[in-house]
Amino acid sequence: MSKGHTIPLLHLAHLLLRRSIVITVFTTPANYPFIADFLSNTTASIIVLPFPQNNPEIPSGVESTDKLSSMSLFHLFSLATKHMQPDFERKLETLRSSVNFIAFDGFLWWVAESAMKFGIPKLLFLGSNNYSSCLLKAVLEDGLLSRPELDNDELMTVRQFPWIKVNRNDFDPLFTGAELKGPPLEHLSKVNIAHSLCDGFITNSFYQLESILVDYWNTRNKQKSWCVGPLCLAKKLQKIERDEPFYKKPSWIRWLDLKLNEGSSVLYAAFGSQAEISQEQLNEIANGLEESKVNFLWVIRKKESELGEGFLERVKERGIIVRDWVDQMEILMHKSVKGFLSHCGWNSVLESLCAGVPILAWPMMAEQHLNARMVVEEIKVGLRVETCNGSVRGFVKKEGLTKMVKELMEGEKGAEVREKMKEVSNMANKAMEEGTGSSWRTLDNLIEEICSSKQ
Ligand code: UDP
Repeated sequence: MSKGHTIPLLHLAHLLLRRSIVITVFTTPANYPFIADFLSNTTASIIVLPFPQNNPEIPSGVESTDKLSSMSLFHLFSLATKHMQPDFERKLETLRSSVNFIAFDGFLWWVAESAMKFGIPKLLFLGSNNYSSCLLKAVLEDGLLSRPELDNDELMTVRQFPWIKVNRNDFDPLFTGAELKGPPLEHLSKVNIAHSLCDGFITNSFYQLESILVDYWNTRNKQKSWCVGPLCLAKKLQKIERDEPFYKKPSWIRWLDLKLNEGSSVLYAAFGSQAEISQEQLNEIANGLEESKVNFLWVIRKKESELGEGFLERVKERGIIVRDWVDQMEILMHKSVKGFLSHCGWNSVLESLCAGVPILAWPMMAEQHLNARMVVEEIKVGLRVETCNGSVRGFVKKEGLTKMVKELMEGEKGAEVREKMKEVSNMANKAMEEGTGSSWRTLDNLIEEICSSKQ
């Protein structure tokens, strides 16, 4: 469905392969090359199902959310995937006796029904953390989002977690059900049904990061949240330490090497695979980065977006723009990278934690606002950009960006979060240690429990 779900699920596949578990991945033609590359030199098999072409709003070849022309098509897209179900079930039928469990992307909600039909245990993959799931559940339980007297930016205390303060703007209407109708409402109810049918949740997080929230969830819900991450560490050895003779460094990594040799540090700026940034906002980012005077590597996803005249020339000594797909983990692990201006997609946050790079949070959609609260207020490993109206969803002018970029890279508060980041990074890496880490052991327990439940 999206890179933010595909990548961690493939990392999970790697962890299972390392335990000699047989893996079969279902995907679609356009997603096949990415997946085949990710699983190259492994024993995993890949089954390609045709993608339904029955919705004129989704042009042929668009088979993941990052290829959609607008995120407003997201719900229609997810609903359209249902047409893959008959082909999926025909294939599953031939495999059923050897399948111990299915791990599936929650946006492919119909997989839960198919697994039920064949009596196969099913684990729903959540691209998010326990912090956001627990907060969402808590505010919905208490009706906090529908209190008319509160302004959208007014902070409220969450009864169940009294040290946490959130406001209405932290919650995406997509998840709260507020003002939803038509395809978004239909989609949300399908996803909710999949949640209720599944046997547990695979969570890309680690116990030490949010232990109170994990315990809270697991003592109140029949379906356990299994923290088996940070999954981005699964391929660490293969992906990052690339000494192979055939590995040719991309130009941006060579540029980072150069900056490291000069003894200077770099801010990495990237907003994930699907954030939609207006041209006006893009211009402010460019101006803000230029005025901050820091070195920066900025990944821009939309090929068609323009930068102001002369910008590249003016910043050429200390900034580069990349419009290709990058290996983000490789960038974050580069020794020259000392800060990450991020939209706080959960994978990006985890990757930054693993690499020990403090975050300048700029949440945009989905549960990113809650992730930003977690980064800044809960784990204290990041700062936030300043919006011009003070609202977490406000426009960011160049001044609000410049000020906070400088603070993160050179200021006192930046130094504090950098120090804290070292501690958290250590914990994250420990959690994934083979054999002994908490996440490693949780995955072992999960496999044992789920396999014993299938007779
Ligand atoms: N990513 C990448 N290269 C890119 C853009 C994104 O490797 O050029 C990866 C990134 O490392 C992360 C995922 O894509 O693993 C994006 O997930 P995230 O949750 O951060 O954001 P989303 O794209 O879902 O908003």
